[in-house]
Amino acid sequence: MNYRHSYHAGNFADVLKHAVLCWTVKYLQQKEAPLSLLDTHAGRGVYDLTAIEAEKTSEAKQGVLKILKLDSVPPVFEPYLTIVRRSSARFYPGSPVLLSGLARAQDRITLCELHPEELAELRSNLAHAKHTTIVAGDGYQKLRAFIPPPEKRGLVLIDPPFEDPEELTRLTKDFIAAYRKWPTGVFLLWFPIKDLAQFNRFKAELQSSLIPKLTILLLDVDRAEGLSATGLLMVNAPYTLHDEWHAAIEWLRDA
Ligand code: SAM
Repeated sequence: MNYRHSYHAGNFADVLKHAVLCWTVKYLQQKEAPLSLLDTHAGRGVYDLTAIEAEKTSEAKQGVLKILKLDSVPPVFEPYLTIVRRSSARFYPGSPVLLSGLARAQDRITLCELHPEELAELRSNLAHAKHTTIVAGDGYQKLRAFIPPPEKRGLVLIDPPFEDPEELTRLTKDFIAAYRKWPTGVFLLWFPIKDLAQFNRFKAELQSSLIPKLTILLLDVDRAEGLSATGLLMVNAPYTLHDEWHAAIEWLRDA
């Protein structure tokens, strides 16, 4: 367990993932009924963009910090950027803080984290968050235990580190099992595209598992070094997702 999100926080992949996450939660909140918001791989919640780790990669400079300087952005980014702008440019909000910023009084957040240091930071950063439970342990195991939630409506974010070559295999297996347990849940899975053949196998396996309403969003920023392409897989996404995000992703790539 060497992965630290501090090296990557606020990069182009985070911008896409976090913007789609916030937009989707806002969409689901059009109904008054309470939501369960579950983040299986939560991270530390807040990332200092001046820390040695962030300075070493400068990834946020090619991501969120670039977007924040623009005069106009597509409206689908607003739910995300509204929360990002609330904190100083130095501290980037991870998915737990974004979810906490969006949650209404009737919503409930569950955050899982396995790494002891990240967990301790998460507990400290979210110490005053309302309606939030922080759980230590393996996010995939917790996922099985926590769904379907009593609220019956909600979203699951599965955002693993992908440092283990077998992560995609585990993600596929555990996600299919989770979907079968809660077929009406909204699932948002993040993945890097490092190997196209592996990505195509992942897609084929999910498509053959007969999960309907599967949407994949891809972003390739055409970088020669480091991660260049990333994707999001959604199940039971808002029906406007594809139309609203198609042009926004092209805009993000160009930006
Ligand atoms: N979701 C976070 C965000 O968007 O701000 C970023 C999460 S980061 C990509 C992945 C996190 O998963 C790391 O903090 C890592 O310590 C944690 N992790 C690794 N293996 C895990 C596991 N089996 N269960 C739960 N968390 C795990």
